Amino acid sequence: MIEFEQVTKQFEDGTLAVSGVDLVIPSHQVTVLVGSSGSGKTTLLRMINRMVEPTSGTVSIDAENVADLNPVALRRRIGYVMQSAGLLPHRRVLENIVTVPRLNGMSRSEAAELGLSLMDTVGLDRDLAERYPSQLSGGQQQRVGVARGLAVDPNILLMDEPFGAVDPIVRADLQNELFRLQGALGKTVVFVTHDIEEAFLLGDQVVILERGGVIAQQGSPTDILAAPASEFVADFIGADRGRRALRLEQREGACVVVDGNGRPAGVLSEDATPS
Ligand code: ADP
Ligand code: MG
Repeated sequence: MIEFEQVTKQFEDGTLAVSGVDLVIPSHQVTVLVGSSGSGKTTLLRMINRMVEPTSGTVSIDAENVADLNPVALRRRIGYVMQSAGLLPHRRVLENIVTVPRLNGMSRSEAAELGLSLMDTVGLDRDLAERYPSQLSGGQQQRVGVARGLAVDPNILLMDEPFGAVDPIVRADLQNELFRLQGALGKTVVFVTHDIEEAFLLGDQVVILERGGVIAQQGSPTDILAAPASEFVADFIGADRGRRALRLEQREGACVVVDGNGRPAGVLSEDATPS
């Protein structure tokens, strides 16, 4: 379990990025931090692995204050996946995936075996192992990023808008893959997005942030949808859903895609069931 207690981060230039956050992130679940750009999501995430140090308050992992842990050791046991995938352009796919295990002293042959099995895990063809990142599609690059995040077999996986840069169809693919992976691996995932749809889709727990890094509401998607805690939350989930949200509904035995206003946008099939 990851716990934030009264955590505040004010940057040197005076910007208050996170203000008095109290938050418990349960183990083996997906917690999604969602909010507009600049609401402090990345800052909050990076305080978990000490890429950012809080101005005040404490962040702990399994009751251990991260301030007492060696930051390099900490980062090597927490997976981190970024929006850009953050791959090293001059290194091949396989080398990218096993960068950290190699730094930790794993032998070349053991690392190669691990890398290939991680490619299987994230649904990448092993034939891509010797390519360079620029020779992959955006979706494939993100899969490499996820494989690299998993390479140290971390208990905790931090994901900062990992699917933000790919087109909607690839994105849906990656979301499904993460869903499947999480079912199999049961990591503690902290996932950042500005997209409320993605938050509701992936999160066991959703934490909505307001400007200044203040928690507006936290809870299960169902709880939040059923009872938005404030006008801000109602707006945030409503505005977004009205604009482009699609969801599945069962109507007269068929699975119908409806838009944010409840208008049917298409019929999937007779036997598909809403998830
Ligand atoms: P988000 O990830 O939700 O877009 P960030 O955590 O990146 O938000 O940023 C929160 C606020 O802190 C923003 O106003 C941003 O400009 C500011 N900020 C982020 N990093 C720094 C920094 N290193 N120095 C000064 N201000 C920063
Ligand atoms: Mg960010």
